[in-house]
Amino acid sequence: MSVDNLNHLLQEYPEIESVFACVCDLNGTMRGKRLPIEQAAKILGGGLRMPLSVLSVDVWGEDVEGSELVFETGDSDGICDFTGRPIVLINWTNRPSALAMLWMREEDGTPFSGDPRRALAQVVQRYAERGLTPVVATELEFYLYDPSGTQPQPPCSPVTEKRLGSDGALSLDELQHFDEFLDDVYDACAEQGIPADAAISENGAGQFEINLMHVADALKAADDAVLFKRLVRGIARKHGFAATFMAKPYGERAGSGFHVHFSLENKAGENLFDNGGEEGSPLMLNAVAGLLATMPENTLVFAPHENSYRRLLPGAHAPTSVAWGYENRTAAIRIPGGHHKARRIEHRVAGADTNPYLVLASILGGALIGIEAEMEPENPISGDAYSMKLEHLPLDWATSIEAFRRGAQVQKIYSKRLQTMLVESKMQELKRFARQVTDFEYDTYLEVV
Ligand code: GLU
Ligand code: MG
Ligand code: MG
Repeated sequence: MSVDNLNHLLQEYPEIESVFACVCDLNGTMRGKRLPIEQAAKILGGGLRMPLSVLSVDVWGEDVEGSELVFETGDSDGICDFTGRPIVLINWTNRPSALAMLWMREEDGTPFSGDPRRALAQVVQRYAERGLTPVVATELEFYLYDPSGTQPQPPCSPVTEKRLGSDGALSLDELQHFDEFLDDVYDACAEQGIPADAAISENGAGQFEINLMHVADALKAADDAVLFKRLVRGIARKHGFAATFMAKPYGERAGSGFHVHFSLENKAGENLFDNGGEEGSPLMLNAVAGLLATMPENTLVFAPHENSYRRLLPGAHAPTSVAWGYENRTAAIRIPGGHHKARRIEHRVAGADTNPYLVLASILGGALIGIEAEMEPENPISGDAYSMKLEHLPLDWATSIEAFRRGAQVQKIYSKRLQTMLVESKMQELKRFARQVTDFEYDTYLEVV
């Protein structure tokens, strides 16, 4: 299958000379090697090795807490196996190349439990053991910006020229202004087997959202989101601007989210969240309850950086509290209306700056905890969640790291190793951030006389 896929690609594009062999780190960034195409067999045969630490983020240096996790083994190699996600063409670069997604195992064949894709696979496997298949769709928001200045500005667009701020929602002018970019994005999605659905211009000037269609394969949905972010950034560069999936690139504009829609199917392909009515099945309610119960502990996955917390603000269509509701965009969990056959959960907490494998593992894992314990959710809210007294999400990074570190629910979803790796690498990032002095502080506190 994989060899066929590669041969097919090479037949169609004989000019391909190199293949990128990549794993996905905890931050959702692809890391790996560029190999001459003649070496592709090595990738498919599991002959490629990389240090296990490549999956951690910033666990290096002298004063690094947790570096023993890496160095106790002498930072040994992991073996990178082909995941089975068909190899894709990269054709927006100077010359076309191929990209293969890999995941790690230990020398003795054990899947490496610190690999985020492995974590998601394990959650999916637990569903499979119950005869259930998650059906997942993702929504990716991003900004286009002009990278030439010191601060990113959105590229000139009909909306930015006339107005500043957040007023681009569903603007046709904005969509059509960028249609050459969008054409290339859709072509690349078709080429890479990513089921792109609607594109819209989002609230922020220069902000867009593209939805990917539902697939009954959570690993594919996450692979596709990772590939999609990469192709959007690459194609933006080709068009002379840049794209960012940062959660909140502009203080005054809307943030970028990564909403996840999902339902559960049985072996007959029936939607088990559908009860024929508006309210959804008891199974769906168990899943909602599990998501709410595990949300504070998993917030680190949904908001993994300091910048992520700038997005979780009242009035920005991003959630701030642990609540659910029908057709309610101020709640963390929204049950969209529409035909009962399409009854599903929309999880609105994650920012676009997240690791799609971890986000899906936390969501599907959290829902499963609710299903296993047959949890019942509190009443849904109606109206404006921002103005209600509700349990808050952890609204700062350090609190989230601590909640994830202590998380009893987290341990039901993730291996101890992944939990420790994520906490330690986030602690490093937090320390580096804490050493920065911002322009705001100079502007406000630096004495002039
Ligand atoms: N941009 C919002 C966020 O940060 C979401 C807007 C929407 O409802 O699509 O999550
Ligand atoms: Mg949106
Ligand atoms: Mg949405």
